[in-house]
Amino acid sequence: MKIKQRVLPKLPQRLNGLGEVAANLWWSWHPAARMLFKMLDRQIWKESNHNPVKMLNELPTEVLQAAARNPDYLRYYDEVLAQFRHYLEAKEGYFSKHVADSNHYPIAYFSAEYGLHHSLPFYAGGLGFLAGDYIKECSDLEVPLVAVGFMYPRGYVHQHIREDGWQENIDEILDRDAASIFRVLNEAGEQLVVKVPFMEPSIHVAVWRIEIGCIPLYLMDTDLEINDPWNRRISQHLYISDIEQRLRQEIVLGIGGSQVLASLGIKHSVLHLNEGHAAFALLERIRERMEGGMKYEEALEQVRKTSVFTTHTPVAAGNDVFSFELMAKYFHAYWPALGLSRDAFFQLGISFKEPNAGFNMTAFALRLSGHRNGVSKRHAKVARRLWQPLCWPEAPEMNVPIDYVTNGVHVPTWIEPKMELLFNRYLGAGWLADHDNEALWELIDTIPDEELWKAHYWLKIKLIDEIRERIRQRWAQDHVNLSVVRAGGTLLDHSVLTLGFARRFSTYKRADLIFYDLGRLKKLLNDRWRPIQIIFAGKAHPADDPGKRILQKIFKAALDPELGGRIAFVEEYGEQLAQYLVHGVDVWLNNPLPPMEACGTSGMKAALNGVPHLSIVDGWWAEGFNGKNGWAFGQQEVSGSRDQADAEALYEILEKEIVPLYYNVSDDGIPHDWVKVMKESIKSNAPRFSARRMVKEYIAKFYTGALKEA
Ligand SMILES: *Cc1c(COP(=O)(O)O)cnc(C)c1O
Repeated sequence: MKIKQRVLPKLPQRLNGLGEVAANLWWSWHPAARMLFKMLDRQIWKESNHNPVKMLNELPTEVLQAAARNPDYLRYYDEVLAQFRHYLEAKEGYFSKHVADSNHYPIAYFSAEYGLHHSLPFYAGGLGFLAGDYIKECSDLEVPLVAVGFMYPRGYVHQHIREDGWQENIDEILDRDAASIFRVLNEAGEQLVVKVPFMEPSIHVAVWRIEIGCIPLYLMDTDLEINDPWNRRISQHLYISDIEQRLRQEIVLGIGGSQVLASLGIKHSVLHLNEGHAAFALLERIRERMEGGMKYEEALEQVRKTSVFTTHTPVAAGNDVFSFELMAKYFHAYWPALGLSRDAFFQLGISFKEPNAGFNMTAFALRLSGHRNGVSKRHAKVARRLWQPLCWPEAPEMNVPIDYVTNGVHVPTWIEPKMELLFNRYLGAGWLADHDNEALWELIDTIPDEELWKAHYWLKIKLIDEIRERIRQRWAQDHVNLSVVRAGGTLLDHSVLTLGFARRFSTYKRADLIFYDLGRLKKLLNDRWRPIQIIFAGKAHPADDPGKRILQKIFKAALDPELGGRIAFVEEYGEQLAQYLVHGVDVWLNNPLPPMEACGTSGMKAALNGVPHLSIVDGWWAEGFNGKNGWAFGQQEVSGSRDQADAEALYEILEKEIVPLYYNVSDDGIPHDWVKVMKESIKSNAPRFSARRMVKEYIAKFYTGALKEA
């Protein structure tokens, strides 16, 4: 099988390597590589949405030829290219040194979404970024992995807020030929198209590939002429609401994805399911073994020992249940292939609590995977309680076999480049290579307060400038009402204590909690000497009207002159805006309804950059908070209204602790006690909530054992 390397036009011989670098997402987490493109033409780099493939296609030949004659550029280019090639060639990585030689088949990782970079819009939110960060870290540690997912040609939904605050969604059609994505070609030189087994009429999927450092990600796309229109739409959007189309999507992901690997001749040793959407891949693993001569029971046992399932949410909408009728429609030809009766097949996915409720994808994945985990210590506990009556009614809750690996974030992706340079100076230039070493981070204390504060302040100004520029452009283009321009953040003030709240607008995240007592909030916002301001961003799922109503409420607050321009709602939350926000606000706020936040990762991105976390005790913060690295609020149990109790606790901690601390500025202009919290935030959280620690834990807890059974 060949991968089509798109021939980039017009590259001078001397700069041929630019095509190599552009074709591998390695550039996305190496600022020096991004600089290589930016140096060619800042404007075109920006206009391409930081997409090097698109940029190289659009760059005038003269610019490239001039660069090929510029000794400074060439020196820089040679250095980056050497780094890149060294990265790909390195063979003595963590995995081969500490785990196993790479002589066995790779681990297959399945996820419905991947958040990799803003030029590759295949994501909805946290689950996708977790998967993207996971793959990048596996590449850094040289874990032999292949990843499988969907292309979603219309996956990205642009967010436009109407003047009345209602969210409208505009699909963006992905230009597949202008991104770092490649067609996988068959022997005849045409794009590889695979048929999903057992589906009538046939569903065809085209196969694409993205290089993420050393790791290939195969993406499926059903938007092909040979498919009927209904089939074509399977991969158009993420998480289709129509239940039958959702089932078909999951069939394509799990069964089609397995078929893609088989067609490519990729045998995998271990399967890792990132959430239940791809769980049908487990069936294919059993079926393949039975084709090889094993009996069902034996195949099931082997699959169990070599499959890892990560559950990501206790929220019902995140755990799909399909009716038996619907399942029968698509699987009546499948269960005979496993030698199972209809009933025995359905037993694999029932809940013992409600046996007639249908086929539960999470219950199914939990039963068939021998390695199971939640995504924080607290979430695992919640998951054991939640799934015990459904899957293990005989077992006491504490014996329910669901372990945990707390999520982490890919440090090279989320560290702001200026902060990285600052850390280079005080932690030593090798810090990034050793960033999960907790001892190293003690050196954060050697950074002079002034330097850390100045770096942070610069990032805050950069954030506010970006927000103002975005809303200025929106005004110039769409002539929106001036009150909308103000709601978009024109009145933000960089000298004011700034809270950031940005994530998906699922109702359990309670984005509007801080508006619970408007009078009390107004006092905080409008204080003459020590005000606060809050920047909100986030999208509601297109079908989530309750989420859109919360968004509308916040947007209306941002329009309200009584709140003095101190609330801003910024449209179009995505990877790029997330970068600005987690680097530039003063405090990162999170106040979900416990225990619904399985982990939450945006706060880790902020904490790493010296933005302390202010959060209810839920998800990762139950592990992260140490009394001095941020703030925690909220009781475990409340009598009466949970929202009221939590909102009051939030006001209290803002009024009594956070505001006074922030504005306690010394004669030298620096809030030293505040900077102390920033430093604690960085040094206590950065190593522990890194994707590096996370991947090493998956290896130690699950992969090592699973590989022995493979
Ligand atoms: C990190 C991230 C998320 C996840 O944030 P949570 O705090 O887990 O909700 C969602 N969207 C984007 C763009 C992110 O970068």
